[in-house]
Amino acid sequence: MECIFCRIAARKHPAKIIYEDDISIAFEDINPQAPVHTLIVPKKHISTNLDLKEEDNILIGHLFQVANKIAKDKGIAEKGFRLIINCNPGSGQTVFHIHLHVIGGRRMHWPPG
Ligand code: 5GP
Ligand code: ZN
Repeated sequence: MECIFCRIAARKHPAKIIYEDDISIAFEDINPQAPVHTLIVPKKHISTNLDLKEEDNILIGHLFQVANKIAKDKGIAEKGFRLIINCNPGSGQTVFHIHLHVIGGRRMHWPPG
């Protein structure tokens, strides 16, 4: 079966989508860890960071541009926000379709758990 984020991108599974373009889609995390917790997902299925190819460099850069737009639109850019890509189970990755977490709206702690 198709992965859950491919299904969301194809509108086969519901999500609160807040942004979309040809390359990516962004939607609210179902289990938010902060007042702002948005996921930015490439429409291309890539399982983990380790699967990125040279040809994906523009795609990955694009996700970071979208993250800036979302952080500005949500009013968390100036105070600060965190971008996270988990890679493989030891990091906490649970969905094996690469995604960029945009987390903010509260004081973030360091180091992360
Ligand atoms: P990971 O732990 O893989 O880096 O992050 C996966 C994230 O996807 C988690 O924060 C989890 O709450 C979120 N998530 C998992 N399934 C769904 C879903 O069906 N819809 C939405 N909106 N988020 C999901
Ligand atoms: Zn997928």
